[in-house]
Amino acid sequence: MRLLDLTFEDLKQVFAECYGKGPFLAAALYREFYKNLNPAAWQAPAIQASSGLAAKLARDLVFAPGTLVDEVRREGVVKFVTRLEDDQCIESVLLPMETHHTLCVSSQVGCRMGCRFCETARMGLVRQLSIEEIVGQVYTARRRYGGNVRNVVFMGMGEPFDNYDHVIQAVRVLSDQRGLDIAQRYITVSTAGRIDGIAKLARQGMPHLKLAVSLNAAEDNLRDRLMPLNRSAPLDRLQEALAAYPLKKGYDLMVAYVLMPGINDGDEQLAALTRWLAPLRAKVNLIPFNPGRSSANRPPTDAELERFRQQLIDAGVNVQKRAPRGRDLMAACGQLGGRLRCAGSGC
Ligand code: SF4
Repeated sequence: MRLLDLTFEDLKQVFAECYGKGPFLAAALYREFYKNLNPAAWQAPAIQASSGLAAKLARDLVFAPGTLVDEVRREGVVKFVTRLEDDQCIESVLLPMETHHTLCVSSQVGCRMGCRFCETARMGLVRQLSIEEIVGQVYTARRRYGGNVRNVVFMGMGEPFDNYDHVIQAVRVLSDQRGLDIAQRYITVSTAGRIDGIAKLARQGMPHLKLAVSLNAAEDNLRDRLMPLNRSAPLDRLQEALAAYPLKKGYDLMVAYVLMPGINDGDEQLAALTRWLAPLRAKVNLIPFNPGRSSANRPPTDAELERFRQQLIDAGVNVQKRAPRGRDLMAACGQLGGRLRCAGSGC
């Protein structure tokens, strides 16, 4: 039994079926594991007091989210590397905010989407992450960096909708009030534009969960080049899927636009973006391109970023600018899977 896979309701069922025990003891175990962050949760006093139960749980509980093997800190941003049971490695990034931390988590080892500006794409898809490996990134961050990890964004390695079932169960576990208690309105799932995934999430019945789309170009010929997924899921179909997405009142879709000078920052690209956004309730997250280790392109200057942002605002677009925090760590958007490596692994 892997507690990182389970909501409290799941655990209650397991307790009844496998141990013949009721919700009181399940709650004691869950609390010890998630609130006290103790992986040896059978040590909880209530469990110890229940005849024979602690020994059975010590035998049955598996805790294998991977081992933290490397971390780099700069300007408060932490990128940490987790080595998984099969020696593959994943990266996560902790971004301190004023009142809390945001954790950027991975959903796959590598990614098969092939986005041209992305370091992770160079790895190809190695494998899907399990539920435990996804939730484990948050559990590890809470244990090591304190309890203030309140926001989770699926913007690390991988396309979350390529690993849909595990990501959705991970969201359920993360948001369980008896456990890590990260409200779904503080969790964002970001897709490169998997239309089938967007439609599935629309039917999922998680209205508070935030949806983000990595757009980066609003003309098919350019987006085909930057994001090969666009060839099978072009912009008009993506726009249609997003327009049909049941957004809660007061919620916006997040549209990420990585600004690459000389590629997607011209007047034509701006006009196309403005037109494409018009029917959508969306907020644009303008992100300066972060050059990878061998990238031929350069990042935009502050003036270029500000000019594009102002032009969007003038065109009536709801836009926010994101500081390029973490660029030096290769921890900014599209840069995971790069510099840090764990000894002896193939990652
Ligand atoms: S940007 Fe996202 S979807 Fe595209 S290759 Fe990178 S990790 Fe995959």
